[in-house]
Amino acid sequence: MNILQCSICKKPFQTLGGKVCNECLDKMDKDFVVVRDYIYENSHADMDKVSEETGVSKQVIMYLLKEGRLVIEDSKGTGGGGILLCEVCKKPINTGRMCRDCKDKVASKMQKSITAHKVPEHGKSDPYNFKSAAKLKNR
Ligand SMILES: [Zn+2]
Ligand SMILES: [Zn+2]
Repeated sequence: MNILQCSICKKPFQTLGGKVCNECLDKMDKDFVVVRDYIYENSHADMDKVSEETGVSKQVIMYLLKEGRLVIEDSKGTGGGGILLCEVCKKPINTGRMCRDCKDKVASKMQKSITAHKVPEHGKSDPYNFKSAAKLKNR
């Protein structure tokens, strides 16, 4: 069992893989509905406004956005009004952690490294075995 600091309330909790404690998750499920409905009706509201009007902390809204549960409508075609930025190229995005371009790049990179691993290495002797073989010879 791992102990982690909850990324919302900062209390330590036993995690099963998540970054947020059960208490906050429960609360966030309710917050999520409130924020989602608010954004649905006020698609051009910015983060401050959403937080103010819904009473949900920006931290929680940010978390929901990064998890991809909330999506900000882009009003000017720039995506998210600069609330969320791609973690790679810093372009404004609507949801998640990366823009579509960077996601694609990462995905294709991962695929490449997987196929690279699959290629068997022929004719390379194990350096450890080589050394011990030389030792045996010198004896
Ligand atoms: Zn918590
Ligand atoms: Zn990007």
